[in-house]
Amino acid sequence: GIRFSTDVSEEEVKALSLWMTLKNAVAEIPYGGAKGGVRVDPDRLSQGEEERISRSYIRSISDQIGPDIDIPAPDMNTSSRHMAWRMDEYSLMRGRKVPGVITGKPVEMFGSEGRADATGFGAAYVIVEMLEDIDSDQVTAAVQGFGNAAEPAVRKLEELGVKVVAVSDHTGARYDENGLSYDELVSCDREHGIVCEVGDEIDNMDILELDVDILVPAAIQNVITEENADRISADYIVEIANGPTTREADEVLERKDVTLVPDILANSGGVTVSYYEWLQNRSGDYWTREKVLEKLRNNIQQAYRDFRDYRDSKGLYGRDAAYQMAAQRLVSARETLR
Ligand code: NAD
Repeated sequence: GIRFSTDVSEEEVKALSLWMTLKNAVAEIPYGGAKGGVRVDPDRLSQGEEERISRSYIRSISDQIGPDIDIPAPDMNTSSRHMAWRMDEYSLMRGRKVPGVITGKPVEMFGSEGRADATGFGAAYVIVEMLEDIDSDQVTAAVQGFGNAAEPAVRKLEELGVKVVAVSDHTGARYDENGLSYDELVSCDREHGIVCEVGDEIDNMDILELDVDILVPAAIQNVITEENADRISADYIVEIANGPTTREADEVLERKDVTLVPDILANSGGVTVSYYEWLQNRSGDYWTREKVLEKLRNNIQQAYRDFRDYRDSKGLYGRDAAYQMAAQRLVSARETLR
């Protein structure tokens, strides 16, 4: 992931690279882990500036990337259009089309079907697998966020029979104990932001404390903190956002026996389909949306089952289990070289 953000620093990039390494290990994607960024304020860029920065960034790292070296992808404030510029720039430098150098491209420009929905659908597939452990006729969920990752998750959860009773975005939060309708939320979102006539208005932060089975933070980081962790009522938390829970909050949640599926597993659908995109670019064999999503579902549900079995056998808190499992896979891979 290459991000555009004013916070980019060498230390942050190193930390995010480690996170990526752990995520690939948990999802069993045969990649290592890397990250990159441009320290820039994305809100102040014209489209021309975004394009020129995307292209010059690629020129400056072109020796470090390639289909067999490192394969960048979108991250904060970058989209499929930025990926198209980057792929085009790298290809111009090499004098031939090299689609496998970047993932997250538009479908019309060697991207993969299903990539846009991959993170949200992936998390929903994890939740469905988790439902086997939940003893309830009607499972309820609250989702914080309604962006690229959250919106497809809400759609898939509704399709799979989970009642999404609350959804929020940066403008506010809506609640309906009978369940919100995805179609209404989408039409509402396009026209007015999520604060419109769907359900009742609730306070934006209260969404985290609702009495639901599953809480899905899918917006921003550090929203579950020492301050509110004690008031979380959900028995399950599935982290679509990166880093929504602070270390101090983790300690409270662990004490409360909350079952947590950490970000490195719950949002790994995106990198999984990036990997599929790279496979398609290398083979020239392009898959249908159904095939992409079926493979994603099988892969992420298997990753979840491995995680669950590991967690239960060791009696660990969710985040610790995922990190340990990933670290062990990395260590055993390294040991083959000894
Ligand atoms: P996005 O910008 O498309 O959406 C962010 C959403 O959060 C928007 O609906 C916005 O209104 C909402 N939001 C912002 N501030 C809020 C607040 N204070 N309260 C409630 N809602 C708020 O971003 P995204 O791509 O959907 O990413 C969301 C999270 O998921 C990030 O943490 C990101 O790192 C993570 N993630 C995304 C992907 C992906 O494929 N998009 C993959 C892995 C992880």
